[in-house]
Amino acid sequence: MSLNENEILSYINEVNLLLKNAYVPYSQFPVAALLIDDNGCKHKGVNVENASFGLTICAERNAITTAITENMKKIKVLVITGNTPEPISPCGACRQVIREFSDKDTIIILANKDNKYKIASIEELLPYSFSAENLE
Ligand SMILES: [Zn+2]
Repeated sequence: MSLNENEILSYINEVNLLLKNAYVPYSQFPVAALLIDDNGCKHKGVNVENASFGLTICAERNAITTAITENMKKIKVLVITGNTPEPISPCGACRQVIREFSDKDTIIILANKDNKYKIASIEELLPYSFSAENLE
């Protein structure tokens, strides 16, 4: 699967609209994620902070758990954005969770509020990763 420039920018515009919904009273660092699953369905997530900081949940994992609730099997496209000068980069915990539902064809778009973006594979984000294959 490949995406053209218009599709990419359309997804980035859509995910950037979610930034205002992030619950970030402590860090003021909103992040939003838009996930397109193997059925073509869209799922969204924003980061949700907590006064007990360790309970904060990242946007990517919120989008993934929402997608799983709605019967996603695989991530086709994952778009992540933030109010960052350069395209945002997911944290290590999210990379591992993204890995669980990705394969070599999964397209991960790292973006920012100004529509700057870069495209990565899960192998690039998390090389030599631990996955279900390691359990066999
Ligand atoms: Zn994260």
